[in-house]
Formats: sequence, structure tokens, C-alpha cells
Amino acid sequence: MANAILVRGGRLVDPASGTDRTADILVRDGRIEAVGAGLAAGEAEVVEADGAVVSPGFVDLHVHLREPGREDEETIASGSAAAARGGFTAICAMPNTEPACDSAAVAEKVAASGRFLGLTRVVPAGALTHAREGTQLAAIGEMARSVARVRLFTDDGRGVQDTRLLRRAMEYLTGFGGICAEHCDDEALSEGGQMHEGEVSSRLGLRGMPAEAEDLALARDIALARLTGCRFHALHVSTAGSVALVRAAKAEGLAVTAEVTPHHLTLTHEELASFDPVFKVNPPLRSLADVAACRAGLADGTLDAIATDHAPHAAHEKEAEFEAAPPGLIGMETALGVVLALVRDGVLSLPALVERLSTGPARVLGLEGQGGPIVAGAPAHLVVFDPEARWVVDPSRFASRSRNCPWAGQELTGKVLATIFEGRLVVSNGELLEGVGATW
Ligand SMILES: [Zn+2]
Ligand SMILES: [Zn+2]
Repeated sequence: MANAILVRGGRLVDPASGTDRTADILVRDGRIEAVGAGLAAGEAEVVEADGAVVSPGFVDLHVHLREPGREDEETIASGSAAAARGGFTAICAMPNTEPACDSAAVAEKVAASGRFLGLTRVVPAGALTHAREGTQLAAIGEMARSVARVRLFTDDGRGVQDTRLLRRAMEYLTGFGGICAEHCDDEALSEGGQMHEGEVSSRLGLRGMPAEAEDLALARDIALARLTGCRFHALHVSTAGSVALVRAAKAEGLAVTAEVTPHHLTLTHEELASFDPVFKVNPPLRSLADVAACRAGLADGTLDAIATDHAPHAAHEKEAEFEAAPPGLIGMETALGVVLALVRDGVLSLPALVERLSTGPARVLGLEGQGGPIVAGAPAHLVVFDPEARWVVDPSRFASRSRNCPWAGQELTGKVLATIFEGRLVVSNGELLEGVGATW
């Protein structure tokens, strides 16, 4: 197999170097060897990128891989394959597994499995509290010092409700530059809620989760970040109030970052009128005004990253009656096709969108070698995508083990053609290459 790849004739969009021009990229032995016009192919494998965009590989700050514990829903292998097909060359795995990733042993296992597969970089996030129970701190220092070098800590799925405990966690993280990431939710307000609280929940007779449950938790967390000096990352921001809080925190100079999901940028609570559990997510799909605020926040850089919150669920659980179904949807293989609509809607430019998918999230996590720049000598993590390609979403063809995708049967515009991870072609012509990664 050739150890060189020539990506020929694509529109190179590299936010890290401010580049937007047509260029060839020659990759050899894991690194970018040259960037320029008319590069000679030699013995290199050629990826034709004429009419396509070539950019730094995407980075997903928020995925659920379900291993260990729920391998029927997803494994590190199937999740890594889904990531590669979505153009992601790094993903951050949330710790709500069974057991939770609250020790060096679990974190190292997750990271090592990802390395062994070699499809995408798998970065484990550690739990903030033991077993994500919210009562005592997890072995944060042990995870940080482990081979996995965990940097981002969260109890995602839940927020830490005990404010004093969260303060202690932040003080501890400040000592080594760790990041506190929160699923912002005041459970006293949101408990029992099935969807966003508003006119649609009233009409449908479903118990609502008010936007204030997110806003209040985020306001508290920002106050604690100010108090402790801790770096803070708001997971899946979904309300106009949250966007305003993050904007104000940044204006104040606090080390606060935030992400937003493709679904919170494109879907509203009106979807719930179908009572289809595929639209049940946490935080819930919000109002049109919230979606508009999230779009504006993404466009002006208040929100640093698009993250999928890819949350696989077994069909028998997700297709249960609405109130019994677990929240969450899968998103890695549709992310690009969904968010490219923002460019067509004039919300932000294509280079800005690429920034929020690659350079922005890589910076949040401090992931060296990811998110560009695409320059000679840099590690080769690249994605090639056709922003105009139309395709119909067929979840039965996904690499993910789960099928809870709200875009099933819909046509999306924009498709990943090729993904290069560590200088190796792992996805070609939109399909995972046979023989890459381990068998599963
Ligand atoms: Zn969450
Ligand atoms: Zn999540």
C-alpha cells in the first residue's frame, strides 16, 4: 500500500491559516509534505477533490460511545467508524458508560481501544463525580495523570446539582488546567419534563422543561468559573438565555467556551407534535427564537463548536411510548449534511462553518495536530467533502449500531467523500475502506 496520498484540485479551506484557495495536498508518512498547485503524484494514491472542499478533519467534542456497558447500542469500534464516515478525525467520548469513566483504568481502556482501531482519535472525558452520582468527586487527578491524560471532566447526562461540590471540582481542575464541562440543568426545575416547556408542550399535554432550567444552571456555573478561575465549557447550549450568558462571560474575559448541536440549530419543539420519540432529546428541541439565537451565537463566535451529542439507543428502548423512551439521537454521520444548510441560509460562511467543525473544537480541547493548520510538516488529519452532493439518509447503512436518526428518509445536501486520519485514507468515496481499523 502506498504511504503517500495526493489530494488533488480541491478548494482548501483551512481556518487555522486563513486559507481559502484551490490547492493540492501531498501527504506522506502521516504528515503533510507539501501544499501547492500542480504537485506531482508520483507513486501516491490520488484522491480527486475537484469541486470538493478539503479542510482539517472535524473534531466532535461530544459523543456517546456506550462502551463499556451498552455494546448493543454502540462500541468504540462502531462509533469510531461512524466518526470517520462523518469526517471526524477526533471525538471526545462522554463518561456516562457502565461503569462510568471515573477512573484511570476506564479512561485508559477507552483511549487505547481508539488507538488500536486507528479510525479517529478517541479522547476520553472523565466524570466529575464518582459514578456520576453527584455526591463525591471522582478520581480526577488520577485520570489527569494517567496515560490517557484526561483534560475534560463532566457528568454529562446530568449536571452536578450540588453547587459546593462543583466548586470543589473546579478548584481542583484549576490546579492543572483541566476543563469543567457541564450539562446545564437545574433538575429541581426540569424534573419529569418530556420536552421544552412552551406553547407546544401545553398543546400536546406533555410535561415541559423550562429554558430557565438550563439558563440558571449555566449562570451558576459561570459564576463558579469566575470564582475559581476554572476553564469552563458549556455542553449543548440550546436556549437564547444560554447564548446571552456565554456572550457576556466571554466579553468579561472568562475562560468560557460553548458548543451547540446540529439539531438545536435546525429543529424546533414543533417536531414533537408527531409524538415520535426520535425527537426526544436532552436538552430538548426548543422554540424558533432559541434556534435563531443559537444560529446567531454560532455565527458571531459566541459558540465555539458544533458538537453532535451523538447518543445511540437500542431500537426497542427508543421506539417505546414517548414518555418511556430515553432521550438522544445519533448525529455523526449526518452532521455535515445538516449544518451546511446554515451556509445556504446565509447564517455564516463556509469557512466559518468549517472553523466551528474543526479548528474551534480542537482549540477548546487543546488537541494538538487537529483542526489544522494544513501546512507542510503538520500531522495529516483531513476531510474532503462535496458541499453540493445530495443524498437520502438511510440509517440502515450507517456504521453506527443504532438507528435513532431524525433525518431518516430525508435528503441532505453535503457529503463526506474522504477522511484522512494520521495520514491514512480511512474513508474513500464516502465509504469506510475495507481493512482499516480492527474487525468487529
Ligand atoms: Zn448532556
Ligand atoms: Zn451528551
